[in-house]
Amino acid sequence: MSEAISYQRCAPCGHVWYFVRSFCPKCGAREPVTSRASGAGVVHAVTIVDRAPTPDMKALAPYTLVMVDAEEGFRLMAHGEPGLAIGDRVAGSIVELAGRPIPFFKRA
Ligand SMILES: [Zn+2]
Repeated sequence: MSEAISYQRCAPCGHVWYFVRSFCPKCGAREPVTSRASGAGVVHAVTIVDRAPTPDMKALAPYTLVMVDAEEGFRLMAHGEPGLAIGDRVAGSIVELAGRPIPFFKRA
């Protein structure tokens, strides 16, 4: 099973971002609004990881990391299917990898 990627938006200044915080990283306003993202985005950068940083991730290596520009305007680092390239349109959701919830993107 997979679930939607969430992001946050600051009402006063309109800034959007991925990591959950209690205040806006741009203007400092409190109580950002958390929303579900559509999962649609475009690949901004791709990295192939041959040497996993932790033992549980070694089982998955080599794997693909992507920076994705989500259509809502935030950017996030995520796992992706092999063969993704810069500029590819992708669709993402939260999946469980090595026992943890991780954003994962496939070609749209
Ligand atoms: Zn703000």
